[in-house]
Amino acid sequence: MATSSIVSPSPVSLPVLGGAPAAAEAIVHKKAPVAAEALAYKNLQSGPFWQAIPAYKDVDETTFLDHNWQAKHSITRVDKLLAAVQDLVSPEFLRDAEEGFKRAPMSVRVSPYMLSLIDWSNPYEDPTRIQFLPLASQVLGDHPMLHLDTLHEQEDAPVAGLTHRYTDKALFLPLDTCPVYCRFCTRSYAVGVDTEEVEKISLKANDDRWKRAYQYIAERPELEDIVISGGDAYQLRAAQIEEIGNTLLDMPNVRRMRFATKGLAVMPQKILTDNAWFDAFTRVVERGRKLHKDVVLHTHFNHPNEITEITQAAMNRLFERGVYVRNQTVLQRRVNDDVATMTKLVKRLAHINVHPYYVYVHDLVKGVEDLRTSVDTALMLEKHVRGTTAGFNTPMFVVDAPGGGGKRDAHSYEYYDRETGISVYTAPSVKPGQHFLYFDPLHQLSTFSQRRWHDEGERERMINDAIAKAKQHIR
Ligand SMILES: *Cc1c(COP(=O)(O)O)cnc(C)c1O
Ligand code: SF4
Repeated sequence: MATSSIVSPSPVSLPVLGGAPAAAEAIVHKKAPVAAEALAYKNLQSGPFWQAIPAYKDVDETTFLDHNWQAKHSITRVDKLLAAVQDLVSPEFLRDAEEGFKRAPMSVRVSPYMLSLIDWSNPYEDPTRIQFLPLASQVLGDHPMLHLDTLHEQEDAPVAGLTHRYTDKALFLPLDTCPVYCRFCTRSYAVGVDTEEVEKISLKANDDRWKRAYQYIAERPELEDIVISGGDAYQLRAAQIEEIGNTLLDMPNVRRMRFATKGLAVMPQKILTDNAWFDAFTRVVERGRKLHKDVVLHTHFNHPNEITEITQAAMNRLFERGVYVRNQTVLQRRVNDDVATMTKLVKRLAHINVHPYYVYVHDLVKGVEDLRTSVDTALMLEKHVRGTTAGFNTPMFVVDAPGGGGKRDAHSYEYYDRETGISVYTAPSVKPGQHFLYFDPLHQLSTFSQRRWHDEGERERMINDAIAKAKQHIR
C-alpha cells in the first residue's frame, strides 16, 4: 500500500541564491553531533500499521481513513475489544479489562486508530492502553481529598454548561459526548454515559440551553474569549459548528474563540475525510479572519506515539487553510512523566506545526490515582524541556487549582511541602483572598506521610499547617 497518497507532495527546492560559496577550509564543529535518538521525533509511524490488529488485517487505507468507519468501529465493550484484538491478548488481560471496565467512573470508547497504536505485545505498559483501557489490577485507592468536579466548573456556571471563571473568558460546553472517552477525563462528572460507578449531570446538545449561553455572553461586555469544549467539538455537526461560530462572531464583544477537540489526536481521519465538518470549521476561521477575530483549534496529544503520518497529513490540511492549532497535554504517570517522552512529544508537536500550550498536572479525578504525578515531577520536566526548542513551542506547566482558582504556573505555589505532598496556590486576579490546595498522590509519599493521610486528625493538621505557612509568604 502506498502511504504517499495521504502525504502532501514535498515542497520544490529553491535554487541557492548566489551559488555555493567557493571551496573553503573545513568548518570546525564546536558542538558534539547529536545522537540519532535526539532526532527520532521526526520519524512518524507510517504504512498500514493497523493491519497488525486481527480484525483490521484486510482493511485498506481508504477504509481506515474514513471517519465514519472509525466512529462505527470504536470499541465500547470488552466483547468488542476481544473481537478486534483476538489472540493478541491473554485471557488474564481480558479478565483484568472486564473488571476494569465495570469499576471505571468513565465510559470506555476507543477508536480503531488508537487501538492500532497500542503495542499489544506489552499492553500493561503501553501508554495508549494506559489512557483508554482501564485494568482492575492497576487501580489505586483515591486520595482522601478527592471528589468529582474538583474544578468547581458547575459552581462558576451561570447557565448549565457555561463556566465564567476568569474575567474576560468563558468555557462553553455545548454537548457531552466525545469521539473517544479518556479514563482520566476531568469532566467525568458530565462527559460520557452513566457508568456503574457514576451518574452524570446532563449537558446534551440543546437549543434552549445554547440560547441562554449566547444571551449570557452577549450581556457581559468583558467577555471576549470563548472556549468551545465539551464533550468535544468533533461531535458537533457541520451546521452546529457554523451556528455557534457565527453567533459568537456576530457579538461585538467576542474577539477570540477556540474550538477544543481531542479529535486531531484520536481520529485525524475526520480532518481528512469529513469535508462537511472541515469546510464548516474553516469557513468560521476565515470569516473570523475577515472580521479580525481569532478562531483557532485546541487539541490534546499526550504521547509522541499519537502522532503518525496520518496526523501529519491532517495537520498539513489545517495548516494550508491557515488554521492555528495549540495543544494541551495532561501529565500522567507511566505515559509522559519522563524527560525523554515529554521532550519528544514537544518536538514532534512542533514538527507538525502544533504549538504546545499547556501541560497540566493531573486534576484530582476519581478512579485514576495510578495516573497522577506530583507537582515536583512537573517542575523537574519543565526544567529539562525548556531550552530544547523555541520558547514559543515550550509549554507552560500548570496546576488547574482545585476549587476553581483556574490555571496557575506550577512554579507559582506560595508553599509546597514535598513530604506531605501539599501545595498551596493563590489566584489574585481570579478569586482574591482565597488559597487553593493541590495534593500529590499518596503512592509517591513516604509510608510515614501516607499513614498521616489516613488519620483524620493528622490530615487536618497537615492542611492547616500548609495554609499557615503559605500565608507567611503571600504578597
Ligand atoms: C482553561 C479555561 C479557560 C481558558 O483559559 P486559558 O488559560 O486562557 O487557556 C477558560 N475558562 C475556564 C473555566 C477554563 O477552565
Ligand atoms: S476527549 Fe476530552 S472531554 Fe472527552 S473524555 Fe477525553 S479528556 Fe474528557
